[in-house]
Amino acid sequence: MKEMNSRITVVKGDITKEKTDAIVNAANSSLLGGGGVDGAIHRAAGPDLLTECSGLDGCPPGEAKTTKGYRLPAKFVIHTVGPIWRGGNSGEEKTLENAYRNSLAEAVRIGAKSVAFPAISTGVYRFPPDLAADIAVRTIISFLREHDEIEEVRLVCFSDESAEHHRRALDKHLLE
Ligand code: ADP
Repeated sequence: MKEMNSRITVVKGDITKEKTDAIVNAANSSLLGGGGVDGAIHRAAGPDLLTECSGLDGCPPGEAKTTKGYRLPAKFVIHTVGPIWRGGNSGEEKTLENAYRNSLAEAVRIGAKSVAFPAISTGVYRFPPDLAADIAVRTIISFLREHDEIEEVRLVCFSDESAEHHRRALDKHLLE
């Protein structure tokens, strides 16, 4: 098995272009489309994605559901719902951790060996990006240590600032 520092990587880019087996969507609980990364994924996948999502009956915060990737390079989309930041005393950290953990559990279930994540909840849901990156990296490393089935997780950041937060978190948690 590869070393942890080659199983989790940070890149700057557009997640809809990723050729991993699965990409994760930071959706809202209706799963019926939205702005940000959700809108970009639906535009790139084409209308069949929304048709499949309509049959899923939504998704509560912290949970995850899988669809096909349609016109995306990725075979699957794992839709998860992060917490809306309400100041930090409403279980936001735990819900964000669950969103990462349950998305990875879905990846194992469907046999995806490579998975790309966006920075869940750091857009319109306003989660502080440095804290979100810390939770993302900590949760992913802990899951990968327990699951050899997943070979690579790519953190696809939309800005230099977001990539910097994730690189810093990675440097910190890889030493633990
Ligand atoms: P949320 O509602 O979970 O906050 P958003 O889509 O508003 O979801 O934002 C989540 C993160 O995804 C933000 O950091 C945003 O900059 C980023 N993002 C937006 N579009 C893309 C994209 N095409 N690829 C990767 N990340 C994206």
